[in-house]
Amino acid sequence: MEQTYFRKGFGLKGQIQGALSDDYHSAVVDEVRARGYTVTVGDLTVRLAQEFGFCYGVDRAVEYAYETRTKFPERRIFLVGEIIHNPHVNAKLTAMGIERIARGPAGAFDFAQVTAQDVVILPAFGVTREDFERLRALGAVLVDTTCGSVLNVWKRVESYARDGFTSVIHGKYQHEETRATASQVTAYPEGRYLVVRDMDEARQVCAFIEGDDEGAAGALRARFRAAASPDFDPARDLVRVGVANQTTMLSSESLAIAAELRRAMAGRFGAGALREHFRSFDTICSATQDRQDAVLRLLQDSVDVVVVIGGYNSSNTNHLAALCAERRPTYHIEDAGGIDPVAGTIRHKAVGASGEVEVPGWLGTGPCTVGVTAGASTPNNKVGETIERIFATRGVALAASLA
Ligand code: SF4
Repeated sequence: MEQTYFRKGFGLKGQIQGALSDDYHSAVVDEVRARGYTVTVGDLTVRLAQEFGFCYGVDRAVEYAYETRTKFPERRIFLVGEIIHNPHVNAKLTAMGIERIARGPAGAFDFAQVTAQDVVILPAFGVTREDFERLRALGAVLVDTTCGSVLNVWKRVESYARDGFTSVIHGKYQHEETRATASQVTAYPEGRYLVVRDMDEARQVCAFIEGDDEGAAGALRARFRAAASPDFDPARDLVRVGVANQTTMLSSESLAIAAELRRAMAGRFGAGALREHFRSFDTICSATQDRQDAVLRLLQDSVDVVVVIGGYNSSNTNHLAALCAERRPTYHIEDAGGIDPVAGTIRHKAVGASGEVEVPGWLGTGPCTVGVTAGASTPNNKVGETIERIFATRGVALAASLA
């Protein structure tokens, strides 16, 4: 019988390495790294964070997608949504003939075209249990690139459901990873979840835990209607809670939310009974943590402005931008195209905004140090192009200066 589920590589790395290098490698980034992550020309310095860009999970997912194309040259290949949240990487896969499956008007992925003869790639952030079962039932070959760090969160959430704890997930309920993580509670009939986006939402949950009156239950149900199990009942489901996070959240906020819930549960049930009512595990992935730590270290140096590169829908990129914006003028750009060296402008998305704005004269004219970092889904070539355009804004051809 043909194997129809794969979650380890096909052993074709040697055959795809050239294409990966052509598509994502950057000689400029290699050179900046070799120079201690800092390059200065004239009175302009660019400092690169020591951890940035593609993480181990993204590396693996992208490699696996390229291997899949090589392994099944004659088959139709589909991708559920986006492999990662980077428009360039998704466009490359489309150019390789990998077709994206979009969501239908009701919000569910539309698998109508998929047949048993096709191959379907599952993205790095995974798919919901329901979507997985639907695809299995269709009989297509599934290539599962779900990151191991995401699978660890799923195990945690599943164990909460098994033991009768409601999963309180710090994340964005519409994010693919969080949808997939929340769906893991359905492995058990009594499994429940509640997604809180930030400390403000967590405090509303804590206020209910500490007060617990019927009117508050109705308000909480209404507030979290889209972000909780369909039959979520605060009075029943907030007696035992386990905290988990979307892997790419701001780690300091995740820890603070867990502490706040712990405090509320201890207040309600007593510190001695906490073990029966509260569990928590920090499920921020190490790649997210490393990038957040590295950018904070970068900001301890003399950096005047920061450029953060990554998809506008990339959670970890947005959190890097938020960390920087608290400390320095920060520009979150989707790619190097956001910088116009001739006009001297930068087009970026401000933290919390939904659209872009263009800023003239962002680099000024005097001595300046620009910090640069990139989210876990940003390839090195997009980082290198950005660094070149920063220098080009001052009239410097970086490749020639580095030669
Ligand atoms: S950000 Fe973390 S969880 Fe997401 S793909 Fe990368 S390593 Fe995996």
